Amino acid sequence: MSSPPPRTNRPRAAGFPLRLEQVKPARSVEQPERAPASHSVRSKASAGLGLDSADVRRQMVQRLRASGVQSEPVLNAMAQVPRHQFVDAALVTQAYEDTSLPIGHGQTISKPSVVARMIELLMGGANARNHGGLGKVLEIGTGCGYQAAVLSELAHSVISVERLKPLHDKARELLAPLRSTRLRLVYGDGMLGHPPNAPYDSIIAAAGGDALPAAWLDQLAVGGRLVSPVRQPESAKQMLVVVDRNEQGYVHRVHEAVNFVPLKSGLIG
Ligand code: SAH
Repeated sequence: MSSPPPRTNRPRAAGFPLRLEQVKPARSVEQPERAPASHSVRSKASAGLGLDSADVRRQMVQRLRASGVQSEPVLNAMAQVPRHQFVDAALVTQAYEDTSLPIGHGQTISKPSVVARMIELLMGGANARNHGGLGKVLEIGTGCGYQAAVLSELAHSVISVERLKPLHDKARELLAPLRSTRLRLVYGDGMLGHPPNAPYDSIIAAAGGDALPAAWLDQLAVGGRLVSPVRQPESAKQMLVVVDRNEQGYVHRVHEAVNFVPLKSGLIG
């Protein structure tokens, strides 16, 4: 899928190579827990990255906007998180292209347009609309931690579960500089959700199976929304599925086709 050109009159960024020193954002631990997204960690992009990387990221956001992403909080969150720090050094020049990239262990970092689309859908849940943010979030499939970082810009708290220990450890390392008190990584089988902190206002899965695990539906709060890829039995195609829970039960909607890595059960140490 090719992206439309950025609609900007600014000169192109000085380009790569990006400066890759570790970001040590001055993120205040006293930050209010329900801070509106637009107020969160604004200084991060300039705190330790070269201006060129912030600029390339802004161009990515322009392309997301041009491709139909409308939620300003989501676009703002995508503008904050330095995606190039979540990919291998050899792939850094592709970090802001709209493409998924390998992160090792047969897994991939999701493409920016899909991350933005899924989080925008999550923001449409009843609780998220009422609270102006994602509330308490469960993410299944931490991978390298990129989406978890974006989610944490928009949420009261994020629990992200990964079944592959080496990736869980990698994400822990990559996310450490954020020093986020709102984000917790769990090494576990996400098919079981994460019962200790249930119910969740928002549940998002970055891996798709043949059906939604019952645990996810059980752990979804009333007013909560779940967004996940699910293989459809009729077509065998993996589609994005949105489930809202209300007082009466669950409402399922099937959206566009997607292409996520498989949801698998059990742990790999
Ligand atoms: N969220 C990532 C995408 C990671 S790819 C991003 O920011 O781009 C999807 C991840 O889901 C993989 O790391 C895979 O190991 C993980 N996964 C698959 N089945 C899982 C399960 N049952 N529990 C937890 N993680 C799972």
